[in-house]
Amino acid sequence: MAGPIIIGNWKMNGLTKDADHIISALLTYSNNHKNFAKTVVCPPFTQLQHVKELIKNTPYGLGAQDCHVASKGAHTGDIAADMIKDLGAEYVIVGHSERRKDHSETDQLILQKTQAAQSSGLLPVVCIGETKEERESGQYKEVIATQIKGSLPSEFKGLVAYEPVWAIGTGISAKNEDIAEVIEFIREKLIAQYGENGKKTPILYGGSVKPNNVKDIFAIAELGGVLVGGVSLIPEDFLQLVNIA
Ligand code: PGA
Repeated sequence: MAGPIIIGNWKMNGLTKDADHIISALLTYSNNHKNFAKTVVCPPFTQLQHVKELIKNTPYGLGAQDCHVASKGAHTGDIAADMIKDLGAEYVIVGHSERRKDHSETDQLILQKTQAAQSSGLLPVVCIGETKEERESGQYKEVIATQIKGSLPSEFKGLVAYEPVWAIGTGISAKNEDIAEVIEFIREKLIAQYGENGKKTPILYGGSVKPNNVKDIFAIAELGGVLVGGVSLIPEDFLQLVNIA
């Protein structure tokens, strides 16, 4: 497997001055370090073009946080995967639990978004994960299996991010053994669904990843990287993750 990937999801944060601040710290880092882990930033749509210019000719990758299922048309306020690709991004996050919740996104819709992303040449980062209630009732594996079956297409070229909903933005990361158990479970499901190809899909963890827990998280076998929310807005901390990876 390739080295770990670190994806920073800025969510609905980032004015131009914030993007300038974060990216300038990232550029200082890349000027002083060679061969660090693949690092991707996912700013809001309004900053994608600006951030793209700032990271031009650097090792950093660019991603968006969502896309529409259609490639174009009468969908006021929406953004197509083709548009994101056209702008020069490589990745798009789909199925984030905040979108599942705020916009009632279903596995079926996420499947269509994943397909749209793939057809446009983007790498979808498909997020799955159980809620607190589903974890506590012991149903989490069932939930995750349903999400995998429902939101991944019959041919999949992308990344999967395991993000337990209760660990997102709470400061409480899942325990290492719990992350390891689910990642192993996801790997089994991917192999069952895609055979050899299922072995290659990177499986990321997300949910309160911080400088003080990332080292342990990276020690988990099969972990392909991390999806980072809050800390991706604090460049000193985010770069510590990059450094540790
Ligand atoms: P967090 O968010 O790192 O702030 O917990 C992770 C995510 O939502 O991707």
